[in-house]
Amino acid sequence: MLDIKKIRGDFPILNREVNGKPLVYLDNAATSQTPKQVIDAIVDYYENYNANIHRGVHALSQEATDKYEQARIKIQKHFNAAKSHEIIFTSGTTHGINLVASGFTSLLKAGDEIVVSAMEHHSNIVPWQMLCERTGAVLKVIPMNDEGELVMQQYDQLLSDRTQLVFCNHVSNALGTVNPIAEIIEKAHKLGAAVLVDGAQAAPHIKADVQALDVDFYTVSAHKMCGPTGVGMLYGKEEWLNKLPPYQGGGEMIAEVTFEKTTYADLPHKFEAGTPNICGGIAFGAALAYMNAISFDQIAEYEHDLLEYATQELLKVEGLRIYGTAKKKTSVISFNIEGVHPYDIGTILDKLGIAVRTGHHCAQPIMDFYGIPGTVRASFSFYNTKDEVDVLVEGVKRARNMLL
Ligand code: PMP
Repeated sequence: MLDIKKIRGDFPILNREVNGKPLVYLDNAATSQTPKQVIDAIVDYYENYNANIHRGVHALSQEATDKYEQARIKIQKHFNAAKSHEIIFTSGTTHGINLVASGFTSLLKAGDEIVVSAMEHHSNIVPWQMLCERTGAVLKVIPMNDEGELVMQQYDQLLSDRTQLVFCNHVSNALGTVNPIAEIIEKAHKLGAAVLVDGAQAAPHIKADVQALDVDFYTVSAHKMCGPTGVGMLYGKEEWLNKLPPYQGGGEMIAEVTFEKTTYADLPHKFEAGTPNICGGIAFGAALAYMNAISFDQIAEYEHDLLEYATQELLKVEGLRIYGTAKKKTSVISFNIEGVHPYDIGTILDKLGIAVRTGHHCAQPIMDFYGIPGTVRASFSFYNTKDEVDVLVEGVKRARNMLL
């Protein structure tokens, strides 16, 4: 059992008021809140050992380098990567995806096929479209059904010996659907295609094991899992990372530079040009330590209970429809009320101190599929409570009464 009172005590922001009401923060899928253990790690860095890494002989630089590399090992262990140099620090999921999409430019030719799912975030669509424009490769889409699940029979039909790459999110940010990535990976591998999984929405809820999944690339953002913004990680299998050219040129990523020729550093530095987000990387490690101390199994169990309760209570509101009713879901509820614009509901909820997201959630193809402009999305974390669900439901009822 989680000690929610103690956990909530770790998050200073949860004590504040918004518009004169206690904050009810239900926008965790956009960004999660930060516990004081992570804030302390950030303060500790700037107060005690702020220095550039990997290049100084002085004590502070050594200390910062050690802490940064220890964070890489924490991330390696968490995702069960075989080697620490398979973990590349990035600025977030978007950066990780663009790094891989850019790297495949020289590996694809016209007529090659890329398979992507219908329920991707724009950051897992646009970089592949840009890759197709550069190479003449063709994008194919695995469709989804009304429940918000991928139609896997269609996936089988889309795969061919021209398929070079498959991209899919582990969990949909707009619907919360947990996608069958193990099956997606296994089937792609039978045809020799590489698979990138966007783990941005899974990582706060599910501890992915990259070796068990046999995934080729897996990307996450720290800010969705109790860490700071502007940092994330890309896991890549060593053989793939060796095959891909560097993404950006600059300091740190070289072995030797002359005006005639430059040779590149070994992994992971080949993909880490310039001064990284040192403090962010260390704080990402602290965030993983914090969540693992609570335990991902316990988090999943607690959030599942919250999801069931919130679903049951919201469905009691007249005219409310939930989008995404997949059997396997994380704690995300996307909904609308008949005859009401989602933005108006979000605005009234904000006046009541309740933070939700409204709009297309950077997943316009999903909104087009349902024929709607957007939804209200309430996304729950392990520090939310059933009392907060009650406040949300009351707020939604109030909004409905005011707007209809
Ligand atoms: N993919 C998914 C599924 C996401 O939810 C997000 C963030 N909303 C991203 C990618 C992009 O993450 P970031 O903005 O941190 O790069």
